[in-house]
Amino acid sequence: MGTMNRRIFLGSLIGGTMTGLLVKAGITQSGPQKSVRMPTMFLGHGSPMNAIQNNSFTEFLSAFPKDMPKPSAILSVSAHWETRGTKVLKVDKPKTIHDFGGFPEALYKIQYPAAGAPQIADKVIDLVKLHQVEADSSWGLDHGTWTLLKFMYPEADIPVLQLSLNQNLTLEDHLRLAVELKPLRDQGVLIMGSGNVTHNLRRVVWQESAKPVDWAVEFDEMIKKALLEKDLKTLLGKDSKSQSLWQVAHPSLEHYLPLLYAYGASDEKEQVKFIHESMELGSLSMRSMTFG
Ligand code: ZN
Repeated sequence: MGTMNRRIFLGSLIGGTMTGLLVKAGITQSGPQKSVRMPTMFLGHGSPMNAIQNNSFTEFLSAFPKDMPKPSAILSVSAHWETRGTKVLKVDKPKTIHDFGGFPEALYKIQYPAAGAPQIADKVIDLVKLHQVEADSSWGLDHGTWTLLKFMYPEADIPVLQLSLNQNLTLEDHLRLAVELKPLRDQGVLIMGSGNVTHNLRRVVWQESAKPVDWAVEFDEMIKKALLEKDLKTLLGKDSKSQSLWQVAHPSLEHYLPLLYAYGASDEKEQVKFIHESMELGSLSMRSMTFG
């Protein structure tokens, strides 16, 4: 190979590598790359108070998105939007919903002014074949969504939409619905479930120094293991031995179901990666993870 040819060869190799790195990082001159396949994720959200605190969990939220490609849009599946029938938020400017009571005034003043993603809402409606997903303009971004995004993307410069939890569906149905959302990942959409691996507010110890309680640790470990082993029987609550543990960890399932969306929209070969583990107020597992 002559000198000239070698230079061209090296130049194209370096050029190609750089482009690859930039695409991988989601950074190019034209902004977020729509062709980047996004991971899916499930995040614990715990108490709304996190939104006005500075602790190890909020530090984690602020830090980890820097290691990911920047999404073209965020589809949040929050524990706090339950409906009859499946709805998708289709608005240009979602309102910030303060869906809690008895918290300090500062929490009610927070706004998360991200744009909506009506075109992605239409794609969701097209993709889901199991049943009709309805466009909704009455909801907005609830605290399951904005208390996390406020730290992850403080500039609110990524369009956000939400998908509701249909109360008529079984756990298997939720998982099937999640599988149908997979193609969104190839368009740069971040599918983000927001709930808690354990959630029983009657058992919460309202002290920041509360020690993790046994049943919460046991359930959290069971789900961790099931995710690593892709053990669907356990993830869908079909294991007869753990029924009493389910009752105490999730008297109602809305904080667990968003995990099935992150899992269901991942591929068989994609391994779970635990990105945060902690126990808030004695029994709220803040375990957070990505797939892919
Ligand atoms: Zn919650």
